[in-house]
Amino acid sequence: MPRIAPIGSRIARYMDVPESAKGPAVDPAKGYRLQDLGEGLFVITDNAYQSMFLVYETGVVVVDAPPSFAGHIRQAIAEITLKPVTHLIYSHSHLDHIGGAKGLGGHPVIVAHEETRRLLVRANDPNRPVPAVTFRDRFTLRAGSRILELSYHGNAHEPGNIFISVPASKTLMVVDVICPGWMPWRRLSLAEDIPGYFAQVEEIRHLPFDTLVAGHVARTGTKADVELQSEFLKDLKLAAGQALNTTKPGEGMDPRDMANPWALFDNYTDRVMVQCVNTLTPKWSTRLAGFDAFIWDQCYAMEQSLRGD
Ligand SMILES: [Zn+2]
Repeated sequence: MPRIAPIGSRIARYMDVPESAKGPAVDPAKGYRLQDLGEGLFVITDNAYQSMFLVYETGVVVVDAPPSFAGHIRQAIAEITLKPVTHLIYSHSHLDHIGGAKGLGGHPVIVAHEETRRLLVRANDPNRPVPAVTFRDRFTLRAGSRILELSYHGNAHEPGNIFISVPASKTLMVVDVICPGWMPWRRLSLAEDIPGYFAQVEEIRHLPFDTLVAGHVARTGTKADVELQSEFLKDLKLAAGQALNTTKPGEGMDPRDMANPWALFDNYTDRVMVQCVNTLTPKWSTRLAGFDAFIWDQCYAMEQSLRGD
């Protein structure tokens, strides 16, 4: 039987969030917190979402505008400088990270990957203006003497999701791939391409940076967070693979259900999932926050990928 309550069964209380997953508090009167990453680069966060801005000689470059605190971005910038926002970079097309773009005001030049442009043309959302400048593989944004290196590493979370590096601040921003201190968001952070997602985590591991801005959770990330997520993913793949290899379809089923392929598969998958979750629980339930909330989702996503990809 499962040691972690399955999806759909409500439990009295979830596991405690370990200290390693927590970050500095947000002043509720302000609704956001600023983090100085050095050399004019700042993170703005409400401890659920993260965006960045870079101050240069004559203006400000903003990366992402999550609707959850987009109304505070101008105020946050005004704490540091009164220079105008000249550029807005989209990490990817998802509404929850850029849906506050219109609210920034002014007329910043919007930069994004060409796939993001395609998705935003389709979305036709007035709150997510279509980017004016797009690129395919790499793009260097020079803002005064400051440099942002944008690069595309293929589909993982969604097509067009880019890496944004600010070398002078030793900072890398990649959104919706790594969850510092936490279990990935459900179904491997909703990865559209799971082999691509595994590959991107390894690429991030090998890039030079001190600070990872991951787009979510209450703190920024480090190399150690990427190492931990990489280790978890390897264990997940192994656990799901072993469960698939050692589970026999139909075992213990009512013979009357054996001619029902949907039932046969539901019963099989259920036993694979229980084994996968039970295998991972002893090592990981206290190391990553939110293990009990989303471990079933991770096993389902992994099992499906291993059979199909
Ligand atoms: Zn996303």
